[in-house]
Amino acid sequence: MRAPREPARLEPPPQKAMPEMVETEGQETSEDDFEEFWCQFCGREDPSFTLPALDIHYWRECPMLSACKHCEQVIEISRLHWHLSEECEVREAAIEARRLQPDRCPLCQGRVARGMPEERDWQEHLLVMGCPSNPRGRSPR
Ligand SMILES: [Zn+2]
Ligand SMILES: [Zn+2]
Ligand SMILES: [Zn+2]
Repeated sequence: MRAPREPARLEPPPQKAMPEMVETEGQETSEDDFEEFWCQFCGREDPSFTLPALDIHYWRECPMLSACKHCEQVIEISRLHWHLSEECEVREAAIEARRLQPDRCPLCQGRVARGMPEERDWQEHLLVMGCPSNPRGRSPR
């Protein structure tokens, strides 16, 4: 029973109005505070997100991610083709990759964009339209 149930919180030091003090690193101090509480892939924000809850989201829910069916790593769907052809250690993955086209959705084989899809095209396909073959689908609301 040594682990605290809640992560220790460091209160940021009070802001002092001292012009000419901070020159090198001001600006982006507050950004880290948010990182644990929203999904960097689908952008979902949830006040109940903690690190373990985010993990579960990545593993089971996030529509931008998919578990590689060969090695079971969770991969961004936009990188799944690359993973299968280059990264995955299971040999069958490369064989499957040959049947896929890098500019198409690896789940539904649908066209994601004209030409090579960019980040926003994947978001459109996976989050806005919803991929018809993605078992995770869009989050219900
Ligand atoms: Zn997500
Ligand atoms: Zn794999
Ligand atoms: Zn698709």
